[in-house]
Amino acid sequence: MAGPLNPRRIALLGATGSIGSSALDVIARHPDRFAMHAVSARSRVPELLAICDRFRPDVAIVSDESSYASLRDGLKDLGLPTEARSGAGALDEIAASDDNDTVIAAIVGAAGVASTVAAARAGKRLLLANKESVVLAGAVLMRAASANNARIMPVDSEHNAIYQCMPGDGSREGVRRLLLTASGGPFRGRSRASLANVTAEEACAHPNWVMGRKISVDSATLLNKGLEVIEAHHLFGLPADRIEVVVHPQSVIHSLVDYVDGSVLAQLGNPDMRTALAYGLAWPERIDSGVAPLDLAALARFDFEPPDLQAFPGLGLAFDALRAGGTAPAILNAANEVAVAAFLEGRLPFLGIPDLIEATLAAQAIEPAADLGVLLASDREARRRAGELLRKMGIQ
Ligand code: NAD
Ligand code: MG
Repeated sequence: MAGPLNPRRIALLGATGSIGSSALDVIARHPDRFAMHAVSARSRVPELLAICDRFRPDVAIVSDESSYASLRDGLKDLGLPTEARSGAGALDEIAASDDNDTVIAAIVGAAGVASTVAAARAGKRLLLANKESVVLAGAVLMRAASANNARIMPVDSEHNAIYQCMPGDGSREGVRRLLLTASGGPFRGRSRASLANVTAEEACAHPNWVMGRKISVDSATLLNKGLEVIEAHHLFGLPADRIEVVVHPQSVIHSLVDYVDGSVLAQLGNPDMRTALAYGLAWPERIDSGVAPLDLAALARFDFEPPDLQAFPGLGLAFDALRAGGTAPAILNAANEVAVAAFLEGRLPFLGIPDLIEATLAAQAIEPAADLGVLLASDREARRRAGELLRKMGIQ
């Protein structure tokens, strides 16, 4: 067990992001429990250097090769012994390295899939925030984790809540349904027609959570909840018809497990990802995360409503992809990544996001998800097709 004599050695992939900084905040509170082995970023060298200066990791990685020299020189200027590395291959090596026992997968998008799977194959404790890798390669990832005794700790607030509410023996005994809560995002209650001209800034203004831009747009389209339904299917082994979504605008009940005897267990807390990260880092112990205690009287009320599938068709598309199985979720995820990038750059209207996903799914044959190679090929093909569909729509 981690403690003063035997700290957990952490590799934090995606250290400069929103989840990355929440993880650093929790880790900094417990210097006796956690030691930083490696940190990574795509290309933000100044932020990565500041993290290295504070946390003194053995290794720092920039995935973008062209940022290598400035990382290496910056580390030298700071007088740090941290070794600079670069490229996607360096991420996979660190995820698999024996020099750490805990990998925090906090990269955004399918760019995180190889390192996430590498950590599972290496039998790590895997704090899994990178939900796109579960959507893309869920079956492969779960098989790799179970074959190599990797412990996956979900770091999505919903899945972390469900993990805490599931039977303690790791079974699904007596579980009737999983109930995923959704905030409804910044456009909750709006009609489809009123969403035609919303901007990236409006979509990223989430009412309860401060997050990276990609997941913020996903929350606005409800595609985030769709990705989470697929994620829940893989993590907890329940079919689509036993996973339900309920909108809960306060984001305090993080999700619920409904048992056959009528008991419904929920996990509550202030909307702050440090709770899920502290849980995953210290399990089976509990440690301070810095999150303020919940004040129920100040909250006064909880509201619930069904999701609006007319205004937010992304959720329905994700359920359809889960039911279709095979490579369908990988295609859905890839098309969504292309669509969200185009929307954030102001090239694609908001309602074009689910339209592009639907068109990409219609254009590409679904195959059995035989192995990671098939899934990655399907991801690449879907990106190519989605790009082509955008060009046909006159969007460059
Ligand atoms: P973010 O955009 O704030 O940070 C992403 C991190 O990944 C950064 O460190 C960035 O440098 C790195 N990165 C981006 N593209 C990369 C690439 N191509 N190769 C290597 N590294 C790359 O994102 P975030 O909000 O922290 O989300 C990270 C993941 O966690 C996402 O999968 C998201 O869905 C999930 N998640 C986030 C939250 C949240 O509150 N932010 C909650 C639940 C789940
Ligand atoms: Mg979530």
